[in-house]
Amino acid sequence: MALGTAMDWREGLDAGDLSSESLVRAALDRIRTLDATLHAVLATDETRSLELARRADTRLRAGERTPVLGLPIVLKDNLHWSGLPMTCGSRVLDGYVAPYDATVVCRLLEAGAIPIAKTNLDEFAMGSSGEYSAFDAARNPWDPSLVPGGSSSGSVVAVAAGYAPLALGSDTGGSVRLPASFCNVTALRPTYGVLSRYGLTAMASSLDQVGPIATTAQDLALAFSVMVGGDPLDSTSVDLPGAEQLASLRAADLKGLRIGLPREYFADGLEPGVRSLLDSALRVFEGQGARLVEVSLPHTRYAIDTYYLLCTSEVSSNLSRFDGVRYGLRASSPEGGVPDMIARTRDLGLGDEVKRRILLGTFCLSKGYYDAFYMKALKARTLIAADFHAAFAQVDILASPVSPGTAFPFGAKTDDPLSMYLADVFTVPTALAGLPCLSMPAGFTSGLPAGIQLIGPALSDVHLLEVAHAFQSLTRHHLETPTLSA
Ligand code: GLN
Repeated sequence: MALGTAMDWREGLDAGDLSSESLVRAALDRIRTLDATLHAVLATDETRSLELARRADTRLRAGERTPVLGLPIVLKDNLHWSGLPMTCGSRVLDGYVAPYDATVVCRLLEAGAIPIAKTNLDEFAMGSSGEYSAFDAARNPWDPSLVPGGSSSGSVVAVAAGYAPLALGSDTGGSVRLPASFCNVTALRPTYGVLSRYGLTAMASSLDQVGPIATTAQDLALAFSVMVGGDPLDSTSVDLPGAEQLASLRAADLKGLRIGLPREYFADGLEPGVRSLLDSALRVFEGQGARLVEVSLPHTRYAIDTYYLLCTSEVSSNLSRFDGVRYGLRASSPEGGVPDMIARTRDLGLGDEVKRRILLGTFCLSKGYYDAFYMKALKARTLIAADFHAAFAQVDILASPVSPGTAFPFGAKTDDPLSMYLADVFTVPTALAGLPCLSMPAGFTSGLPAGIQLIGPALSDVHLLEVAHAFQSLTRHHLETPTLSA
């Protein structure tokens, strides 16, 4: 079966030209053929997916319609889908089977989407390349010697390689946007709170958001439309204004749209090839009557430090639950005693990057350092959010690079955590500010894709998607697909 957008498949299903069962069979075949090379998938349950597909076909034949009814979707393996193992890319969860559905998964299932796989990720979503997975790392379908970007590596690869038209990832500081840029797909980090976090394994709770991934903004909106809205199980969740417009997303009128270009994001360090793709993309907007306005986000230079102080602090607290007592791996303890068992389990089960963050975060939160590091970072976070607020007094949206460069070779940054952290320089500020932002394909440089990031004010997610849809109605970068062989 040829690769198609979710929208194409939606029309085929609604017209009765396609069956969900045939789509799911084709998707599972594609995984079997390609995944020995790409390593995007950690688990499938073919019987269950096919059963769900047959049920969706029955609903379709009965005349029922929803934006996702019968469409295959893959789920990052830090989201609970009951009955399937959930690893979070870590050995410490060996043997853990999800006992319930995450709210976003539950809403997708109710609307008739068909989960077909759990996907690879950096361990507990910590990473920018996919290489920190405890399992074989996912590979970039454009060039398997390169990383796909992380941490939602498997979900993005699954869409780029045509396993499924839709995927869910999570974005704490860029984890759907960065791999989307490296693999030529479109991904949204919604306003903080718009998608429930219930059932998403916590990394840094004040930053974590579920993010949909697809070929186009229109496809993203299909999945997003059935998941949005407040959830009594997540006290930080909120309703999204205008959500009813998502299922049939229109293209925004770009005439007069004021697009802010943050000076600090177009500075040294941005690869020239990526820069020129951005310039061409911006000309597309200008050609439709949008106005480009230079703005300043002066506290950008503190964003990486602020993010990695707050993120590691929250990580050190959230990950204390993985102790071998309640679930997952339990190391044997020859000396006996619970503290020894806990220490051995964590030593055996957790990878180096996760340990590094737990140590750093514990240090930041410790007596004597709390005010100097954690409190200071909270204050810097407020200043970073205030920069965006000031910019949105002058412009409607912001446009920027997603990352300074394109996909890099395996091993290029694993020995130097700081250089890995710097890949996130343009994605962490919006996460700190809780703003909606997306990455969409802007073209190719030296044969590799790179994305452009659009950022909007809080709760402007619908407009942001409409602007992306307008851009994608005028360009074809997002329709380029990699050549793959088994
Ligand atoms: N790369 C960032 C980190 O390692 C972001 C990860 C994420 O968004 N989950 O923290």
